[in-house]
Amino acid sequence: MQINDTSLLRHQAYVGGRWIDAENGERFAVTNPADGATITEVARLGATETRQAIDAANAALPAWRDRTAKERAAVLRRWFDLIMENQEDLARLLSWEQGKPLTESRGEIAYGASFIEWYAEEAKRVYGDVIPHDKAGRRLVVIKQPIGVVAAITPWNFPVAMITRKAGPALAVGCTMVLKPASETPLSALALAELGERAGLPAGVFNVVTGRAGEIGGELTGNTTVRKLSFTGSTGIGKQLMAECAGDIKKLSLELGGNAPFIVFDDADLDAAVEGALASKFRNSGQTCVCTNRILVQEGIYTAFCERLVEAVQGLKVAAAEDESAEQGPLINGKAVDKVRQHIDDAVNKGARILSGGDAHALGGSFFEPTVLGDVTAEMLVAAEETFGPLAPVFRFSDEQEAIRLANDTPFGLASYVYTQNLGRAWRVGEALEYGMVGINEGIISTEVTPFGGIKESGLGREGSYYGIEDYLEVKYMCLGIR
Ligand code: ADP
Repeated sequence: MQINDTSLLRHQAYVGGRWIDAENGERFAVTNPADGATITEVARLGATETRQAIDAANAALPAWRDRTAKERAAVLRRWFDLIMENQEDLARLLSWEQGKPLTESRGEIAYGASFIEWYAEEAKRVYGDVIPHDKAGRRLVVIKQPIGVVAAITPWNFPVAMITRKAGPALAVGCTMVLKPASETPLSALALAELGERAGLPAGVFNVVTGRAGEIGGELTGNTTVRKLSFTGSTGIGKQLMAECAGDIKKLSLELGGNAPFIVFDDADLDAAVEGALASKFRNSGQTCVCTNRILVQEGIYTAFCERLVEAVQGLKVAAAEDESAEQGPLINGKAVDKVRQHIDDAVNKGARILSGGDAHALGGSFFEPTVLGDVTAEMLVAAEETFGPLAPVFRFSDEQEAIRLANDTPFGLASYVYTQNLGRAWRVGEALEYGMVGINEGIISTEVTPFGGIKESGLGREGSYYGIEDYLEVKYMCLGIR
């Protein structure tokens, strides 16, 4: 993969405004999922360097917090501009380490940058309240203040956007941050740090520690200087981090796994439903936490829907990111492929039919054929677990009540989708779905202007929109005697 500005390809971690190696000199390889080749080696930090990063963030906090929102916004705006000016290089870097098609990476850079732009604007509107007093002689005031030093731990499926969704609001309101990016995709995070430095982020405001996840995570959660952890990743690690954060009652934002239902009623616009299902299931080869995991189709259009979906899926171009026409890249690694295979085998053993795909792709490595399964039932593994891969299992239901029951029959509650032309039904089902987000006749719903987040075991807090800024603010009540 060619990158114009090679200074965006960093291999050291970024702590206190300096590029550093691990104290013991260790490094780890970052590989291209399309062919397994090593791109570069990156510093493998542990607890000691993480502590240094936390101290740097803490040292930078008072001056950054004391700037006006407008002053911070000016720096963040420059960061946004630089990200967009370097969109092509950043997209290439992202595809290189993550595997997604270049068109998707370009989209992620713009989507990721939008959080920095939006929160730079929004932080100027962090208003408090004057509450009508309850007694004569005193006045009641509420102000909002930045939480302080924030730790962020992010996954590999959106190597840029999952960072900016946290760093945008955190830095805009005056917090400082120590980020641990996923070990699969640290290069995008380091490039963001490089551009942040060029934009004028003061030393220590944004730190990136790459390396040993458990050790870095242990320091981030155990260190009492860190006042909040924002994590996006698997539910299992999220629960572990939540337990670790109990030690000093750290604030938490968690964006965890989902098990998104995609409900298609008999009265749906079939073209729109197929298009929505394709986009929401196969984006990033199925590796997003809002990807459809279960397609629930009413019996009257079940056969027609499956036929149309198979046709659409067979038209998807599977290729490495260098190929501009690629629509499906490789999965992140062999473990991800194993999970898809396990879900297919389990379903087929229990009576499901493979309608399309079902096997490793001829391109080899971690490429997998986009797959559609029919006659899928609630007893199969794929009903209970997030596949996180290009597998579309189609379930059958008879009426609205059954659809709602099946959709809600999971401990997860992140994204959900409903296709119907009946307005009353759209509203009823939308209200009944136990999910943080509902797409109604829409398969792609994420934007920086709306609150992204889940209920139940899918997480805590919201990212994006004016709701998301609250995750980085403390509310302070001041009672003022005026006698
Ligand atoms: P995935 O299965 O998508 O890789 P993970 O939850 O394992 O999801 O990873 C999400 C992020 O959490 C990554 O940055 C990963 O390195 C990090 N991580 C994994 N294990 C730990 C841990 N024990 N402590 C802190 N962070 C961790």
